[in-house]
Parts: sequence; structure tokens; C-alpha cells
Amino acid sequence: MPSLTETFSAHFGHAPDGVWSAPGRVNLIGEHTDYNGGLALPIALPQRTRCAASAREDDVLSIHSLQDDSSVEVRIDDVAPGHPAGWTAYVAGVLWALREAGYAVRGLEVVVDGQVPLGAGLSSSAALECSVAAAASDLFGLGLLESAEGRSTLASACQRAENDIAGAPTGGMDQAAAMHCTERHALRLDCRDGSTSQVPFDLSAHDVVLLVTDTRASHALADGQYGARRDSCERAADILGVEFLREIDPAALDEALAQLPDDVLRRRTRHVVTEIARVDEVVDALRRNDLEEVGRLFVASHESLRDDYEVSCTELDLVVDTAVDEGALGARMTGGGFGGSAIALVPVAEVDRVSAAIATAFADAKLTAPVSFSVTAGGPASKD
Ligand code: ADP
Ligand code: MG
Repeated sequence: MPSLTETFSAHFGHAPDGVWSAPGRVNLIGEHTDYNGGLALPIALPQRTRCAASAREDDVLSIHSLQDDSSVEVRIDDVAPGHPAGWTAYVAGVLWALREAGYAVRGLEVVVDGQVPLGAGLSSSAALECSVAAAASDLFGLGLLESAEGRSTLASACQRAENDIAGAPTGGMDQAAAMHCTERHALRLDCRDGSTSQVPFDLSAHDVVLLVTDTRASHALADGQYGARRDSCERAADILGVEFLREIDPAALDEALAQLPDDVLRRRTRHVVTEIARVDEVVDALRRNDLEEVGRLFVASHESLRDDYEVSCTELDLVVDTAVDEGALGARMTGGGFGGSAIALVPVAEVDRVSAAIATAFADAKLTAPVSFSVTAGGPASKD
């Protein structure tokens, strides 16, 4: 198979000015908390999306992907919600959003190669956006990769691309992870003020690995259910007189729940408040190297997402139950739910057995074969 730069040269008739890349992510804990002003704790994956690019003198963006045969040309001035349609919205939207934010960007020639599995809840979309944003920052001399503040600006532009042009109403965790995560660290992300801090995450000294299982399931209700969860959280916050559920003190949770009119709102609120608290409990446990406790918190998170927030599904529950039965320290669904991926903390000696048991459980249940792989915490968007 031709390399990325060979494909670029074949497509555009000259070598690219450079290659940039950005990672997918898995969130260790803190699920459905970003739109509640809460906390999340993603790591960047070793799997990255690479973007070979050259600057153009005009306004035309010419895009090609090794994962998708379609090529698109669009003028940045013509980019708008729904245009271009499909995957190229994630690319065009980034240049549009940078221009909206006042940066002087022009057209680009782009070929992308994504190694993050698409649509697996591992954030191939943000990896795509952020690899293009990194290229644009360097090629147009914006200098935004050089500082944390500049990286946050790029992350915001990528989020706007996804929300406004691609039409996916997601929070900002994925783009923040792709821009700010560093190797061997998890990123404690405060979604209320956008602040970040690095938490050591290197399991190799403990003979434990983080196993990711892509269930290959994607249930159609995901979009509508995501919107419904956000609405519930907004309603609960309204009734409780706070801007975000983040403001509810976990110690006063019972009093807050007593003010809510129905069981569904109570359960949604309980998930959000306890999940935000679990993020800092995991941070503390990681700093103490107490991986048993991290595992217990993973399981508590999964049960809360399954029972109170109701965003799990058969496949995710099967991964978690099987991993824990076979010796994982803990496991949980990660990402928005209704399919996508789950993570498990597994002693090195048990990894093959756990992966095989998950595969067997899926085969027995006549489900599409899942894909399991272990990951380490990778680095942020950068020039290759
Ligand atoms: P996730 O971000 O979890 O992978 P999303 O639904 O948010 O799932 O994003 C997946 C979409 O992103 C794909 O359907 C496709 O439109 C787009 N995408 C991501 N990476 C690529 C790529 N390398 N080439 C083409 N499209 C891509
Ligand atoms: Mg995505």
C-alpha cells in the first residue's frame, strides 16, 4: 500500500509541505460530565490520524482520505452547516472555525490517514479535526501549537467544526484530549473553566495494562438519547437553581435529589454528581498507585452509567462483566454509550485470557466479533 506522502504526491503532483498528526482518546472516567461543567480524565491513544498537507494561495480546500474514496473540493467561504456533507465537514469545519475566530487561513491540500478506528467511540473525529488544525496552525503561521492557550484555541475551533458544520452536538472533551494529553499521563480536564492538569498514568511498572475493546456495536438510538440526557441535566440544574450539575455538592446529594420531581431526573442527576466525584477519586488513587481502587471506581462508574444514566447496552455490559469475571481489576464502558468501546484494567498475565474470554462471550451471544487491544498513554497533536 502506498504511504501517506506517496498518496499525497500522486494526488496533487508534488510532495506535501509536511505531515501532522493527532491522537484518538479513551476516557478513563468522567462520562457524560463534560456538558455538566464536570471533570473528565482522558488519555491520548497511540493510534493517531495523520494529515499530509500543503498550503494554497487561494481559498480552496481539497481533501482526500485513505479511509474513504471520495475526494472533495470546497471554498472555505462556502462552508456552512451541512456543507460539505459527510466526513469532509470535519476538515472543512476546522478552517471555517479558525477563520470565524479571526485567523487568516487560506485553502489547503490535504490527505488524511486515520489509524483510530472510525465510529468506535475512540474519537477518530477529533483526531481528524485536530490533525488538520495542527497543520493549519503551522502552515499559516498561527503559532497556536506552541502554548497551552493556543492549543485550547485550536481545540475550540475543532469543537465548533464538529458542532456547527458536522452537526454533532458533542462536548469538548475529545478535542481537549487530542490537543493537551501527554505521553504517560492522563489529562484531568475541568470542563467548567477549561483548565487541565497532567496525572501520571504509566501502568508498565505495575504489570497491568489498559485493555480497550471496540464492541463494533453502534445502536441507532445514540443521537436522540444523547440529546435527551443533556435535556434532563439542564432541567435538573434549572430546578436545583444551578448553572451546571457540577455545582451540586456530593455531600448534599440526597437533599438535592429530594427536590427533583421524578425518578428519572433523580437517577440522571445522581449519575452526574457521583461520576464527577469519582474522577478525583481515580486521580487520587492513581497518584497513590492504588490500581485496585481505580478498578473498583471503574466498576462503580459502569454501574452508574448502566443503571442510573441508562446509556450502556448488551455488548458493553458483556465486555465489562466478562473482563471482571476473568480477573480484570475493573472495567467500564467509555464514551457516550449505546455501543462503542469499553476499557478494562488487566494484570499483564491475564490479558490474553481476558481478551479470549470476551471474544468467546460475544461468539456465544451471536454478536459481531469485538476487537481488543492494549494501549498506553500517547502524546498530543503535533508535527510528525
Ligand atoms: P468517533 O469519533 O468515536 O470515531 P464519530 O461518529 O464522532 O465517531 O466520528 C466518526 C466519523 O469521523 C466517521 O464516520 C467519518 O465521517 C469521520 N472520520 C474520522 N476519521 C476519518 C478518516 N480518517 N477519513 C474519513 N473520515 C473520517
Ligand atoms: Mg467523535
